[in-house]
Amino acid sequence: MTAPDRIETIFADVVRRNPGEAEFHQAVREVLDSVVPALARHPEYADAKIIERICEPERQIIFRVPWEDDHGVVHINRGFRVEFNSALGPYKGGLRFHPSVYLGIVKFLGFEQLFKNALTGMPIGGGKGGSDFDPKGRSDREVMRFCQSFMTELYRHVGEYTDVPAGDVGVGAREIGYLFGQYKRITNRYESGVLTGKGLSYGGAQVRREATGYGTVFFAEEMLRAAGDSLDGKRVVVSGSGNVAIYAIEKVHQLGGTVVACSDSSGYVRDDKGIDVELLKDVKEVRRARIDAYVVDRPHAAFVAGRTVWEVPCQVAVPCATQNEISEDDATALVRGGCTIVAEGANMPTSPQAIRTFAEAGVRFAPGKAANAGGVAASALEMQQNASRDSWTFAYSEQRLREIMRDIHARCHATAEEYGMPGNYAAGANIDGFRRVAEAMLAHGLI
Ligand code: GLU
Repeated sequence: MTAPDRIETIFADVVRRNPGEAEFHQAVREVLDSVVPALARHPEYADAKIIERICEPERQIIFRVPWEDDHGVVHINRGFRVEFNSALGPYKGGLRFHPSVYLGIVKFLGFEQLFKNALTGMPIGGGKGGSDFDPKGRSDREVMRFCQSFMTELYRHVGEYTDVPAGDVGVGAREIGYLFGQYKRITNRYESGVLTGKGLSYGGAQVRREATGYGTVFFAEEMLRAAGDSLDGKRVVVSGSGNVAIYAIEKVHQLGGTVVACSDSSGYVRDDKGIDVELLKDVKEVRRARIDAYVVDRPHAAFVAGRTVWEVPCQVAVPCATQNEISEDDATALVRGGCTIVAEGANMPTSPQAIRTFAEAGVRFAPGKAANAGGVAASALEMQQNASRDSWTFAYSEQRLREIMRDIHARCHATAEEYGMPGNYAAGANIDGFRRVAEAMLAHGLI
């Protein structure tokens, strides 16, 4: 069978074995399509059924999470942890708390995480977890009770040498704190390396909070540098206003660009003087309010309800909200508005049709598994500091992050060239990540 035929058979099998999991199918399709040339060069991968094994998670855990709200009403949510692949190290990946979470979302995220983590060059495998719990509008105590209940089951599956969760959408420092506290209480172990994204007061690492956003902008900077350009003076649009978006905006401004718009699920704000990141942090992190609150303190800025932020013209787009947020129409609008660089801060925010539109228009596109790998890379640095009972300065940690992002960019770039697809970051990222996992799996034998 030729490599493309094999891919079709494997994909059909993935769809059949994982019915109704559209996001997982989409992520698998994208990776399978781009590793065809690597398969042709490595017949040993086919003999060992490496792809078939990679597409099947090593372990999938689904559990009940009962908790009581502030009025004494009992709620039941569903918890997930998908331990995708441990060829390169302990399973590593975030937890997402959002009503959209179901097994297919966790599997898509875990699958992407595997290649992302491989690309960092660090000793971490791939996993992901979460719950359909909606933290929005919940009090601190409700969030605490939910996290305690979640960890009361999860603790038996995680550990610093086994599986190391972190945050993702809906899970930040507050949630990681409650999860860590419960793990410590149940196990009677101060096992700092069991979770990353911890607070600085109890084993967290400098720059972990900023790392995904900063790293995405460092990657965009490298893309511009490769084309003899820089971020200086560029108009940038960032979607979202969570942890990734906030620190992407901060770094764009430090590097001389201007972020003129950002968003949340209610709409977007446009501020041609540049988004005031301190005000945005206050609205989103302190007040936990809707983004329209931003314009109260910045009267020259506008809030646009219920529309896509991608209608604002820019040269660089940094999607930091959620999967498939850039439709084909959004991509067309971005191209028309002069966009030449897209760097994904979120996981899979660009739909397959939009990726095609960008390719046809010559827009350079960096997939999340390369561009947003700074978050998990900083998590690996946190594990390193925990293991050695050390803590590094902000400046040193940021320098490490910048070097890692440069290396990832260089690797994607070089691999794309090696396979005759110069400038195709998606192919470079998929092939390089895949090869690393495949080589380790071959070395471990059939397990
Ligand atoms: N959730 C983040 C990601 O998508 C971070 C994962 C981690 O730090 O383990 O990469």
